[in-house]
Amino acid sequence: MRLSKLLFQTYREAPREADVVSQQLMMRTSMVQKVAAGIYSYLPLALRAIRKFETIVREELERDGCQELLMPTVQPRELWEESGRWQFYGKELLRLKDRKDADFCLGPTHEEVVTDIVRKTVRSYKQLPVNVFQIQTKFRDEIRPRFGLMRGREFVMKDGYSFHVDDADADREYWRMYDAYKRIFKRVGVQFRPVEADSGAIGGSFTHEFHVLAQSGEDAILACSSCEYPSNAEKAEAPALAFPYSSEPVRELLRSHFHTPGITGMEEQARGFKDAERDGLPLDHASKFYLYQATKGADVSPVGLVIRSDHEPNLVKLRNRLGADALELMPLAEAERMAGTRSGFIGPVELDIPIYVDRSLEGAFNLTCGANADGYHHFGFKPHRDLRRFAGFFDLRQAVAGDSCTRCGKGNYAAFRGIEVGQVFKLGTKYSTAMRCTFLDESGAERPMLMGCYGIGITRTIAAVIEQNHDDDGIVWPWAVAPYQVHILNLGAADAAVVAVCDGLERDLEAAGFEVLYDDRDGLSPGVKFKDADLLGMPLRLVVGTKGLKEGLVELRDRRTKEVLKVSPGDVVKAAENLTRTGA
Ligand code: ATP
Ligand code: MG
Repeated sequence: MRLSKLLFQTYREAPREADVVSQQLMMRTSMVQKVAAGIYSYLPLALRAIRKFETIVREELERDGCQELLMPTVQPRELWEESGRWQFYGKELLRLKDRKDADFCLGPTHEEVVTDIVRKTVRSYKQLPVNVFQIQTKFRDEIRPRFGLMRGREFVMKDGYSFHVDDADADREYWRMYDAYKRIFKRVGVQFRPVEADSGAIGGSFTHEFHVLAQSGEDAILACSSCEYPSNAEKAEAPALAFPYSSEPVRELLRSHFHTPGITGMEEQARGFKDAERDGLPLDHASKFYLYQATKGADVSPVGLVIRSDHEPNLVKLRNRLGADALELMPLAEAERMAGTRSGFIGPVELDIPIYVDRSLEGAFNLTCGANADGYHHFGFKPHRDLRRFAGFFDLRQAVAGDSCTRCGKGNYAAFRGIEVGQVFKLGTKYSTAMRCTFLDESGAERPMLMGCYGIGITRTIAAVIEQNHDDDGIVWPWAVAPYQVHILNLGAADAAVVAVCDGLERDLEAAGFEVLYDDRDGLSPGVKFKDADLLGMPLRLVVGTKGLKEGLVELRDRRTKEVLKVSPGDVVKAAENLTRTGA
């Protein structure tokens, strides 16, 4: 492809709204253009990268026997009523009406449609398992579309679904897809990690997310330094910690022992916890208390959580423990009414509601807690002994970097940031039961199929590749998804000898199987061409100029290592092949 013909433009600056590197670089190279918030056009350079990634995805899935199909973007309300999601999917589901006033939505995902296909096509256990996928445009009316292609409203996803006779077979396929995903992201040439993630409250289900590691990632990941336990920070198990002051004599509950009038900040309060023996208390000697509302079906009920003051609560763990559909903080006014005091002094002891306690407090005593009286805290609090409705010690706090690993007990967690580019999910029978997607087993009995679903964010992955692979000058494409592999710079567009060599090299490289971008533009300074080449980021840059040619040499440069090779035009193909083999 000749740059003089390519539909593209480079810009020195990115628009101010571009808030991450991938978006800045994709806009500066006119790979993408914004059409509306979270909605983009993919111009030719971007589409080439996208198509290459799609090819990798197709090849690896087809290797595992997955079959490609294509489902519609516009889906009728009736199917979504059957699964129950018409009601429960929030505002991310864009709903619309046709001219006959019938309801439709734009598919954010395709469980309903694929389940409908399979229930109409599969009757017998002999036709199972089935694993299908599509690469298709999704729409989710995200509340905050941002970061360019990373969180768009319209985006391209590979979504796959599998159907099985039993749980064991669904498990087997789950791990096969897990392995396929590892192969896919390895081929792309990015650093990634599969991490255990939260699967919500659906029984029998579990899930892994695949993350590309990058500073700008929206997700926090914890990974053990010694074993293979990486996890979404939301999900990571936190170890139970011993009470650091266990040599103190155990006290009774001393009600309203500490008086810190007018002080509501936790750390300031702890410094103010003074009596004859102590001048303030450390945070790990104090407890803090949260009031939540748990929703289960139509039922909303209050629950409390006590954790050490230096820890953070983990709502996902508490929600799963309760088996609740949703869990949120109790509105402040309501919490103050229930406790009979204002925020800062609300405590668990007097309340007649179930109270869960983080397991790091299992051996703790002599704690402080709010006294439900303005300005006062109790001292000597021992949760198991003092609570009216003690609901148990469980892992309910956020794990943090430095915590010891609960799996191997040897390593410690380290923190990473990641971009979720894929997810594999064991769904169980949630959709097949709701939509009566059944089969006849060997004995002729009708049973619901077991399902798995498997997504990859195609456009998000391309953005994530750039987030991880760039420098101050521009993109540094990994070989496998680079729009082109070799970028020829003609530095003497007016010099017939230079033009002839460039044309010949373009032909030879293409004949050898390389994809070539050729900067044949006339009237531009070498500086501009060099800058554009760095910005566009193809793995190999080939410079042909009058001065070099006089010595019979052209210059081949590796975009990533910046290593330069001077070779004669006749040796370029061989040199490029060598560089490929050494992993440019
Ligand atoms: P997130 O937690 O980031 O909102 P998700 O878990 O809701 O994503 P899935 O339903 O698992 O997303 O969709 C499969 C894949 O589609 C994700 O792993 C991600 O790579 C991609 N994806 C999801 N939402 C978006 C979006 N708004 N823009 C671009 N890609 C997306
Ligand atoms: Mg996901």
